[in-house]
Amino acid sequence: KAKSEGRSTYHFFETGMDAELQQRRSIEAGLRLAMQRNELRLMYQPLLGLGENRVSCVEALLRWDHDERTISPAEFVPVAEDTGLIVPIGEWVLHEACRAAAAWPSGVRVAVNLSPVQFRQKDLVGQVKAALSEARLEPTRLELEITESLLLTDSEATIAALHDLRAMGVRICMDDFGTGYSSLSYLRSFPFDKIKIDRSFMADLTTRNDSRAIIKAVIGLGQSLGMVTTAEGVETEEQLAMVRDFGVSEVQGFLFSPPLQPSTLANLLHSEAVKTQAKKAS
Ligand code: C2E
Ligand code: MG
Ligand code: MG
Ligand code: MG
Repeated sequence: KAKSEGRSTYHFFETGMDAELQQRRSIEAGLRLAMQRNELRLMYQPLLGLGENRVSCVEALLRWDHDERTISPAEFVPVAEDTGLIVPIGEWVLHEACRAAAAWPSGVRVAVNLSPVQFRQKDLVGQVKAALSEARLEPTRLELEITESLLLTDSEATIAALHDLRAMGVRICMDDFGTGYSSLSYLRSFPFDKIKIDRSFMADLTTRNDSRAIIKAVIGLGQSLGMVTTAEGVETEEQLAMVRDFGVSEVQGFLFSPPLQPSTLANLLHSEAVKTQAKKAS
Protein backbone atom coordinates (compact mmCIF):
# COMPACT_ATOMS: atom_id res chain seq x y z
CA LYS A 1 0.00 0.00 0.00
CA ALA A 2 2.74 2.42 1.00
CA LYS A 3 4.40 1.69 -2.30
CA SER A 4 1.40 2.62 -4.45
CA GLU A 5 0.96 5.78 -2.43
CA GLY A 6 4.57 6.63 -3.00
CA ARG A 7 4.08 6.14 -6.68
CA SER A 8 1.11 8.48 -6.90
CA THR A 9 3.05 11.13 -5.01
CA TYR A 10 5.82 10.67 -7.51
CA HIS A 11 3.39 11.28 -10.39
CA PHE A 12 2.07 14.35 -8.67
CA PHE A 13 5.50 15.89 -8.53
CA GLU A 14 6.45 14.66 -11.95
CA THR A 15 4.23 17.25 -13.63
CA GLY A 16 6.30 19.98 -12.05
CA MET A 17 9.64 18.27 -12.45
CA ASP A 18 12.42 20.40 -13.80
CA ALA A 19 14.64 19.32 -16.64
CA GLU A 20 17.49 18.28 -14.39
CA LEU A 21 15.39 15.94 -12.28
CA GLN A 22 13.79 14.55 -15.43
CA GLN A 23 17.28 13.87 -16.72
CA ARG A 24 18.30 12.06 -13.50
CA ARG A 25 15.21 9.87 -13.65
CA SER A 26 15.92 8.87 -17.20
CA ILE A 27 19.58 8.13 -16.41
CA GLU A 28 18.49 6.00 -13.47
CA ALA A 29 16.02 3.98 -15.53
CA GLY A 30 18.56 3.43 -18.29
CA LEU A 31 21.35 2.59 -15.91
CA ARG A 32 19.32 -0.22 -14.34
CA LEU A 33 19.37 -1.97 -17.70
CA ALA A 34 22.80 -0.86 -18.85
CA MET A 35 24.66 -3.79 -17.33
CA GLN A 36 22.32 -6.45 -18.75
CA ARG A 37 22.55 -4.80 -22.15
CA ASN A 38 26.36 -4.59 -22.08
CA GLU A 39 26.27 -0.85 -22.56
CA LEU A 40 29.09 -0.22 -20.11
CA ARG A 41 32.71 -0.36 -21.17
CA LEU A 42 36.11 0.82 -20.03
CA MET A 43 38.56 3.15 -21.68
CA TYR A 44 42.18 3.08 -20.54
CA GLN A 45 44.41 6.12 -20.08
CA PRO A 46 48.14 5.43 -19.74
CA LEU A 47 50.23 7.37 -17.20
CA LEU A 48 53.84 8.12 -18.01
CA GLY A 49 56.40 7.38 -15.30
CA LEU A 50 59.03 10.11 -15.68
CA GLY A 51 61.84 8.22 -13.95
CA GLU A 52 61.57 5.13 -16.12
CA ASN A 53 60.19 7.04 -19.11
CA ARG A 54 57.55 4.42 -19.81
CA VAL A 55 53.94 3.66 -18.98
CA SER A 56 53.87 2.97 -15.25
CA CYS A 57 50.15 2.69 -14.78
CA VAL A 58 46.88 2.76 -16.71
CA GLU A 59 43.64 4.24 -15.35
CA ALA A 60 40.37 2.48 -16.18
CA LEU A 61 37.61 4.98 -17.00
CA LEU A 62 33.94 4.05 -17.36
CA ARG A 63 31.87 4.87 -20.43
CA TRP A 64 28.19 4.25 -21.06
CA ASP A 65 26.96 3.80 -24.62
CA HIS A 66 23.29 4.66 -24.51
CA ASP A 67 20.77 5.89 -27.06
CA GLU A 68 23.39 6.44 -29.72
CA ARG A 69 25.62 8.60 -27.56
CA THR A 70 28.36 7.99 -25.03
CA ILE A 71 27.55 9.30 -21.59
CA SER A 72 30.44 10.45 -19.44
CA PRO A 73 30.91 9.19 -15.88
CA ALA A 74 30.66 12.76 -14.58
CA GLU A 75 27.01 12.56 -15.65
CA PHE A 76 26.01 9.08 -14.54
CA VAL A 77 28.32 8.13 -11.65
CA PRO A 78 26.57 10.54 -9.24
CA VAL A 79 23.20 8.98 -10.17
CA ALA A 80 24.68 5.50 -9.81
CA GLU A 81 25.91 6.50 -6.35
CA ASP A 82 22.54 7.86 -5.23
CA THR A 83 20.72 4.74 -6.34
CA GLY A 84 23.32 2.26 -5.08
CA LEU A 85 23.82 0.98 -8.63
CA ILE A 86 27.48 1.93 -8.31
CA VAL A 87 27.96 -1.21 -6.18
CA PRO A 88 27.29 -3.79 -8.94
CA ILE A 89 28.76 -1.45 -11.57
CA GLY A 90 31.90 -0.93 -9.50
CA GLU A 91 32.27 -4.67 -9.02
CA TRP A 92 32.07 -5.17 -12.77
CA VAL A 93 34.70 -2.45 -13.30
CA LEU A 94 37.07 -4.18 -10.87
CA HIS A 95 36.75 -7.54 -12.60
CA GLU A 96 36.99 -6.09 -16.10
CA ALA A 97 40.02 -3.91 -15.32
CA CYS A 98 41.88 -6.75 -13.57
CA ARG A 99 41.20 -9.08 -16.50
CA ALA A 100 42.57 -6.49 -18.94
CA ALA A 101 45.65 -5.79 -16.83
CA ALA A 102 46.51 -9.49 -16.59
CA ALA A 103 47.34 -9.38 -20.32
CA TRP A 104 49.64 -6.34 -20.05
CA PRO A 105 53.41 -6.38 -19.41
CA SER A 106 53.99 -7.05 -15.71
CA GLY A 107 55.57 -3.65 -15.02
CA VAL A 108 52.31 -1.89 -15.80
CA ARG A 109 49.73 -1.41 -13.04
CA VAL A 110 46.01 -0.76 -13.41
CA ALA A 111 44.18 1.98 -11.51
CA VAL A 112 40.48 1.65 -10.65
CA ASN A 113 38.31 4.44 -9.24
CA LEU A 114 36.27 3.51 -6.17
CA SER A 115 33.20 5.38 -4.99
CA PRO A 116 32.71 6.04 -1.25
CA VAL A 117 29.43 4.14 -1.63
CA GLN A 118 31.37 0.97 -2.43
CA PHE A 119 33.00 1.21 0.98
CA ARG A 120 29.62 1.15 2.69
CA GLN A 121 29.00 -2.42 1.61
CA LYS A 122 30.23 -5.18 3.88
CA ASP A 123 32.77 -6.98 1.83
CA LEU A 124 34.62 -4.63 -0.47
CA VAL A 125 37.93 -6.26 0.47
CA GLY A 126 36.54 -9.68 -0.45
CA GLN A 127 35.30 -8.29 -3.75
CA VAL A 128 38.74 -6.93 -4.61
CA LYS A 129 40.33 -10.27 -3.68
CA ALA A 130 37.86 -12.11 -5.89
CA ALA A 131 38.56 -9.83 -8.86
CA LEU A 132 42.32 -10.29 -8.46
CA SER A 133 42.18 -14.04 -8.12
CA GLU A 134 39.71 -14.50 -10.97
CA ALA A 135 42.05 -12.53 -13.23
CA ARG A 136 45.18 -14.08 -11.67
CA LEU A 137 46.55 -10.59 -11.19
CA GLU A 138 49.17 -9.82 -8.54
CA PRO A 139 47.69 -7.47 -5.90
CA THR A 140 50.73 -5.19 -6.32
CA ARG A 141 49.56 -4.46 -9.85
CA LEU A 142 46.29 -2.95 -8.68
CA GLU A 143 45.85 0.66 -7.59
CA LEU A 144 42.61 1.89 -6.07
CA GLU A 145 41.81 5.59 -6.42
CA ILE A 146 39.71 7.19 -3.73
CA THR A 147 38.78 10.82 -3.12
CA GLU A 148 38.92 12.97 -0.03
CA SER A 149 35.15 12.72 0.37
CA LEU A 150 35.61 9.09 1.43
CA LEU A 151 37.60 10.19 4.45
CA LEU A 152 35.14 12.93 5.40
CA THR A 153 33.06 10.35 7.25
CA ASP A 154 36.19 9.10 9.00
CA SER A 155 34.53 5.74 9.56
CA GLU A 156 36.60 3.08 11.28
CA ALA A 157 35.34 0.45 8.87
CA THR A 158 36.60 2.45 5.91
CA ILE A 159 40.04 2.96 7.42
CA ALA A 160 40.17 -0.74 8.31
CA ALA A 161 39.27 -1.73 4.74
CA LEU A 162 41.98 0.55 3.37
CA HIS A 163 44.53 -1.00 5.71
CA ASP A 164 43.44 -4.52 4.74
CA LEU A 165 43.75 -3.73 1.04
CA ARG A 166 47.16 -2.20 1.56
CA ALA A 167 48.30 -5.20 3.60
CA MET A 168 47.41 -7.37 0.58
CA GLY A 169 49.80 -5.27 -1.52
CA VAL A 170 47.17 -3.18 -3.30
CA ARG A 171 48.17 0.49 -3.65
CA ILE A 172 45.87 3.19 -2.38
CA CYS A 173 45.87 6.52 -4.20
CA MET A 174 44.32 9.83 -3.28
CA ASP A 175 42.62 11.11 -6.43
CA ASP A 176 41.88 14.76 -7.29
CA PHE A 177 44.04 15.97 -4.41
CA GLY A 178 43.38 19.56 -3.42
CA THR A 179 39.72 19.77 -4.37
CA GLY A 180 38.24 18.72 -1.02
CA TYR A 181 38.54 20.22 2.43
CA SER A 182 41.51 20.18 4.81
CA SER A 183 43.42 17.91 2.48
CA LEU A 184 46.55 17.83 4.54
CA SER A 185 44.91 16.22 7.54
CA TYR A 186 43.87 13.28 5.35
CA LEU A 187 47.48 12.52 4.62
CA ARG A 188 47.85 11.85 8.32
CA SER A 189 44.74 9.72 8.66
CA PHE A 190 45.97 7.20 6.11
CA PRO A 191 49.33 6.32 4.54
CA PHE A 192 48.61 6.72 0.83
CA ASP A 193 50.91 5.27 -1.78
CA LYS A 194 50.17 7.99 -4.28
CA ILE A 195 48.79 11.51 -4.49
CA LYS A 196 47.19 12.62 -7.74
CA ILE A 197 47.16 16.41 -7.94
CA ASP A 198 43.86 17.60 -9.36
CA ARG A 199 43.95 18.90 -12.87
CA SER A 200 42.41 22.23 -11.88
CA PHE A 201 45.86 23.18 -10.56
CA MET A 202 47.46 22.20 -13.85
CA ALA A 203 45.02 24.33 -15.82
CA ASP A 204 46.45 27.56 -14.42
CA LEU A 205 49.96 26.37 -13.67
CA THR A 206 51.53 28.66 -16.23
CA THR A 207 49.41 31.71 -15.44
CA ARG A 208 49.04 31.67 -11.67
CA ASN A 209 51.87 31.83 -9.18
CA ASP A 210 49.71 30.42 -6.40
CA SER A 211 48.82 27.26 -8.35
CA ARG A 212 52.48 26.78 -9.17
CA ALA A 213 53.44 27.17 -5.50
CA ILE A 214 50.76 24.67 -4.42
CA ILE A 215 51.80 22.05 -6.96
CA LYS A 216 55.44 22.44 -6.02
CA ALA A 217 54.64 22.12 -2.32
CA VAL A 218 52.41 19.05 -2.78
CA ILE A 219 55.10 17.31 -4.83
CA GLY A 220 57.68 18.08 -2.13
CA LEU A 221 55.30 16.90 0.56
CA GLY A 222 54.62 13.66 -1.30
CA GLN A 223 58.33 13.06 -1.71
CA SER A 224 59.08 13.56 1.96
CA LEU A 225 56.20 11.26 2.93
CA GLY A 226 57.49 8.61 0.53
CA MET A 227 54.48 8.85 -1.77
CA VAL A 228 54.39 8.76 -5.55
CA THR A 229 53.05 12.01 -6.99
CA THR A 230 51.03 12.29 -10.18
CA ALA A 231 50.14 15.43 -12.11
CA GLU A 232 46.69 15.05 -13.68
CA GLY A 233 45.53 16.93 -16.74
CA VAL A 234 48.92 17.67 -18.31
CA GLU A 235 48.01 19.05 -21.72
CA THR A 236 51.03 21.12 -22.81
CA GLU A 237 54.80 20.75 -23.07
CA GLU A 238 55.12 23.79 -20.84
CA GLN A 239 53.14 22.13 -18.05
CA LEU A 240 55.14 18.93 -18.45
CA ALA A 241 58.45 20.81 -18.20
CA MET A 242 57.31 22.55 -15.04
CA VAL A 243 56.05 19.52 -13.14
CA ARG A 244 59.09 17.53 -14.22
CA ASP A 245 61.25 20.28 -12.83
CA PHE A 246 59.29 20.12 -9.54
CA GLY A 247 60.13 16.41 -9.35
CA VAL A 248 56.73 14.83 -10.02
CA SER A 249 56.89 11.04 -10.45
CA GLU A 250 54.23 10.57 -13.06
CA VAL A 251 52.08 12.52 -15.52
CA GLN A 252 48.61 11.87 -16.88
CA GLY A 253 46.94 13.94 -19.53
CA PHE A 254 46.07 14.52 -23.15
CA LEU A 255 49.67 15.52 -23.98
CA PHE A 256 50.89 11.98 -23.42
CA SER A 257 47.64 10.18 -24.24
CA PRO A 258 43.86 10.50 -23.98
CA PRO A 259 41.86 7.53 -22.68
CA LEU A 260 42.17 4.74 -25.28
CA GLN A 261 40.15 1.77 -26.48
CA PRO A 262 41.36 -1.48 -24.85
CA SER A 263 43.00 -2.81 -28.02
CA THR A 264 44.75 0.48 -28.80
CA LEU A 265 46.15 0.56 -25.28
CA ALA A 266 47.28 -3.06 -25.48
CA ASN A 267 49.09 -2.29 -28.76
CA LEU A 268 50.78 0.73 -27.22
CA LEU A 269 52.03 -1.32 -24.25
CA HIS A 270 53.19 -4.09 -26.53
CA SER A 271 55.17 -1.81 -28.84
CA GLU A 272 56.68 -0.06 -25.83
CA ALA A 273 57.78 -3.43 -24.43
CA VAL A 274 59.32 -4.36 -27.77
CA LYS A 275 61.28 -1.09 -27.84
CA THR A 276 62.56 -1.66 -24.31
CA GLN A 277 63.66 -5.18 -25.25
CA ALA A 278 65.49 -3.86 -28.30
CA LYS A 279 67.23 -1.22 -26.21
CA LYS A 280 68.39 -3.85 -23.72
CA ALA A 281 69.68 -6.10 -26.49
CA SER A 282 71.67 -3.37 -28.24
P1 C2E B 1 39.25 10.99 -12.48
O1 C2E B 1 39.36 9.72 -11.72
O2 C2E B 1 39.97 12.16 -11.92
O3 C2E B 1 39.76 10.65 -13.95
C1 C2E B 1 40.47 11.53 -14.77
C2 C2E B 1 39.55 12.28 -15.69
O4 C2E B 1 40.28 13.31 -16.35
C3 C2E B 1 38.98 11.42 -16.83
O5 C2E B 1 37.69 11.92 -17.13
C4 C2E B 1 39.94 11.72 -17.96
O6 C2E B 1 39.39 11.48 -19.24
C5 C2E B 1 40.17 13.17 -17.74
N1 C2E B 1 41.45 13.64 -18.30
C6 C2E B 1 42.60 12.96 -18.43
N2 C2E B 1 43.57 13.72 -18.96
C7 C2E B 1 43.02 14.94 -19.17
C8 C2E B 1 43.53 16.17 -19.70
O7 C2E B 1 44.69 16.31 -20.08
N3 C2E B 1 42.65 17.21 -19.78
C9 C2E B 1 41.36 17.10 -19.37
N4 C2E B 1 40.58 18.18 -19.49
N5 C2E B 1 40.85 15.94 -18.86
C10 C2E B 1 41.68 14.88 -18.76
P2 C2E B 1 36.43 10.94 -17.31
O8 C2E B 1 36.86 9.67 -17.97
O9 C2E B 1 35.34 11.73 -17.92
O10 C2E B 1 36.05 10.58 -15.82
C11 C2E B 1 35.57 11.56 -14.94
C12 C2E B 1 35.49 11.05 -13.53
O11 C2E B 1 34.50 10.03 -13.42
C13 C2E B 1 36.77 10.41 -13.03
O12 C2E B 1 37.69 11.40 -12.66
C14 C2E B 1 36.23 9.61 -11.87
O13 C2E B 1 36.07 10.42 -10.74
C15 C2E B 1 34.87 9.16 -12.37
N6 C2E B 1 34.97 7.78 -12.87
C16 C2E B 1 35.40 7.32 -14.06
N7 C2E B 1 35.37 5.96 -14.10
C17 C2E B 1 34.90 5.56 -12.89
C18 C2E B 1 34.62 4.28 -12.30
O14 C2E B 1 34.87 3.19 -12.86
N8 C2E B 1 34.11 4.28 -11.02
C19 C2E B 1 33.88 5.44 -10.33
N9 C2E B 1 33.38 5.35 -9.09
N10 C2E B 1 34.13 6.65 -10.85
C20 C2E B 1 34.63 6.72 -12.12
MG1 MG C 1 40.80 8.66 -10.97
MG1 MG D 1 41.62 12.24 -10.89
MG1 MG E 1 39.12 14.11 -11.53
